[in-house]
Amino acid sequence: MTGGRITKGVGGLYSVETERGARPCRPRGVFRNSGASPVVGDACTITEGESGRIGSIESIGERKNELVRPRVSNVDLAAAVCAADRPNFFLLDKYLIILGEQADGDRFKICVAINKTDLADEGGLNEIKTIYGDAGYPVFFLSALTGDGIENFSEYLRGKTTALAGVSGAGKSSIVNALTGRLSMEVGGLSRKTARGKHTTRHAELFALPGGGSVIDTPGFASLKFSGVSVGAFKKHFAEFARYADECRFSDCAHINEPGCAIRERTGGAISASRYGNYLRFCGEAE
Ligand code: GDP
Ligand code: ZN
Repeated sequence: MTGGRITKGVGGLYSVETERGARPCRPRGVFRNSGASPVVGDACTITEGESGRIGSIESIGERKNELVRPRVSNVDLAAAVCAADRPNFFLLDKYLIILGEQADGDRFKICVAINKTDLADEGGLNEIKTIYGDAGYPVFFLSALTGDGIENFSEYLRGKTTALAGVSGAGKSSIVNALTGRLSMEVGGLSRKTARGKHTTRHAELFALPGGGSVIDTPGFASLKFSGVSVGAFKKHFAEFARYADECRFSDCAHINEPGCAIRERTGGAISASRYGNYLRFCGEAE
């Protein structure tokens, strides 16, 4: 029996990274019957197939945590990736909440990774830094294209398993390339992207980082609807509100339309108008 980690799974065929390299495997019938399908990030034991043939996944190690969106397991960190050129704060905030709901306190950490800084001006980047710094997230500024900020980010990722989440086109695959040193391959015209074509539906895939740890490239969420999040649950994802909530007239203030709401009073000042606006939209969507 060989130990390994699931790096990819497409149509029931998995790739398992072992000490001696990647092995193609299918789960044993027991898994299929119990409905407990392996996910990217799982530790597993396998029986290797003979002479390169498909082996079988015998068992899955206990999961430290398990995410549904994106579908991965055993992560230490999820990075919400957003492009710096015309950033969509609404979608970024949505990703942060969907991740935050799943982290449920501290099952894994969440950070913000702003990519394509080569396409943004300093004013715009400073604004993002203020908004998301105030919201309590570590914020990283990157350009997968120029390599700016990649070293600093890779320092933060060292030894961790990190899932990159975010809308398609934000640059997740490019960041993976930059972090794993695939940049040179791209220059040589042998990009992974070209090799696999321009698919919009993709699958999560785990890559080892040169300095230790791993990074998981994930597809954008198919649906950006909140599932099972009640209106009252949103405010805990806005850490910057907590700083002033004591000053609201009502201790159970929802910061929506209550008189004497300190959050509303500060919106446009200490509270970002974009964050508060998105909070109201989320509450409206969940109603
Ligand atoms: P994904 O869908 O999130 O994986 O995004 P991709 O990595 O496929 O990138 C989407 C597009 O943005 C591609 O055309 C990339 O070449 C481009 N891109 C990615 N990162 C950067 C960057 O830092 N700067 C610029 N200017 N373009 C980038
Ligand atoms: Zn309030």
